Amino acid sequence: SDLFGAARRNSSGIDLSDADTVERLLAAMQQTWNAPQRATPIIGAQARDGQGLPVCDPSDTRRVVGEVVPATVADVADALARAAAAQPAWDARPVAERAACLERAADALEADRDAFMALAVREAGKSIGDALAEVREAIDFCRYYAQQAQAQFAPLALPGPTGERNELTLSGRGVFACVSPWNFPLAIFIGQISAALVAGNSVVAKPAPQTPLIAARAVRLLHAAGIPADVLHVLPGGPEIGQALIADRRVGGVAFTGSTATARRIARTLLDDESRPIVPLIAETGGLNAMFVDSTALPEQVVADVIVSAFQSAGQRCSALRLLCLQEDIAERVLDMLKGAMAELAIGDPARIDSDLGPVIDADARQRLLAHIDAHRASVIAQCALPEATQHGHYVPPTVIRLARIEDLTREVFGPVLHVATFKAGELAQAIARVNASGYGLTMGLHSRNAATMATLRAQAKAGNLYVNRSMIGAVVGSQPFGGEGLSGTGPKAGGPHYLLRFATERTLSVDT
Ligand code: GLU
Repeated sequence: SDLFGAARRNSSGIDLSDADTVERLLAAMQQTWNAPQRATPIIGAQARDGQGLPVCDPSDTRRVVGEVVPATVADVADALARAAAAQPAWDARPVAERAACLERAADALEADRDAFMALAVREAGKSIGDALAEVREAIDFCRYYAQQAQAQFAPLALPGPTGERNELTLSGRGVFACVSPWNFPLAIFIGQISAALVAGNSVVAKPAPQTPLIAARAVRLLHAAGIPADVLHVLPGGPEIGQALIADRRVGGVAFTGSTATARRIARTLLDDESRPIVPLIAETGGLNAMFVDSTALPEQVVADVIVSAFQSAGQRCSALRLLCLQEDIAERVLDMLKGAMAELAIGDPARIDSDLGPVIDADARQRLLAHIDAHRASVIAQCALPEATQHGHYVPPTVIRLARIEDLTREVFGPVLHVATFKAGELAQAIARVNASGYGLTMGLHSRNAATMATLRAQAKAGNLYVNRSMIGAVVGSQPFGGEGLSGTGPKAGGPHYLLRFATERTLSVDT
């Protein structure tokens, strides 16, 4: 078996610095923008009819991207009944057949890349570079889990005394509820679903209410790739749909990415009902991600990586840098350079190839972020100006807030707002301990050329993904399995060799021969 997938390759990119390539890409995306887009509950591969509500572009709310028919509680029951009935036959299919569906889905995503990118740009406000990375990650998840399932799901012969045959097998658990976020509306949506499916589960998926269009397109693609109609259903809708889904005892497992508070509510719902089986919750939640910089670091490299880690995707990644911890004696120099680099950021329409960052997802997110900035007004040490053309979108200016102490940042601020604190030379371990004390543990970064300092990070950090002398976003499937600990999630890591196992149940067979 090929557990590390040496034979598998991640998807290849395209050269966004080439003008002809970009021109072709924009023309292709324009076709999707011109075409009517509609998301509905898709149950048994059938789109349910109903009154559509507009889905608006976060970069300019006057632009309607498409319409969505929200799911009802009756749809939840309908989808679950079908998913539960269809799961045993799907689970009984050879793993190679389930994996082949994901391989076909990956090929189809590759072929339809430009349309998915177009939706990521207009529905989620993603930059073109982020949209490309989004589709590539979705493709990589499909192929990675297809390969992993084949390596891991073959029956395993186990030793025993003469006259006894022992075998360990993995099976699907039943119906998985996959509840996904708007910040990776394709990659995480498909990542959860493909893992659950290839492990032998059927799936009822609830995408984030902000991004139903790209999810509906992905589900149609998965059905066309051979996922049986009753094995995968999608229910666009808000928290009431998620609640109804999780509360139903036909759900045999939950994959969730979103806030820590919602993960806690899901866990409570799953455990509340005394007569319900105990089922797994795979949760990937937030972080208070810090990057430490000591006096041996290269300031130019630090600033470039801080800009990417804090402000790319308008800071709307779980992995994003929230707290920059600078060694006292270099802090002013780094901050001066950071201000200079922020002045160069191009903020605006994400459909423009030269935009560095676009809007945040919606009016609520914008309000929350602006209120946070306002509450720290006296400590704002740098802030970009928003161009006039951003006035109709949910834009938030990239902002840097100075904190007196590391522990002054107590909750995740999900947007382009960076906090800065300092630590004294020789006190890195204590500084890391103070960040650990927040209880979150998703990503952590270090810039240092001192090997002993790197060893300190490795020994002290309680975080799932550590990044040294580079940016701390953009984990790559199969290379940087992604996910945290503590308040940041349950594990196992997405895009890593232990992920699929949590979606499966283990059975042994012992035969006296
Ligand atoms: N995997 C993404 C990254 O490494 C973050 C995923 C998330 O925001 O949930 O940047």
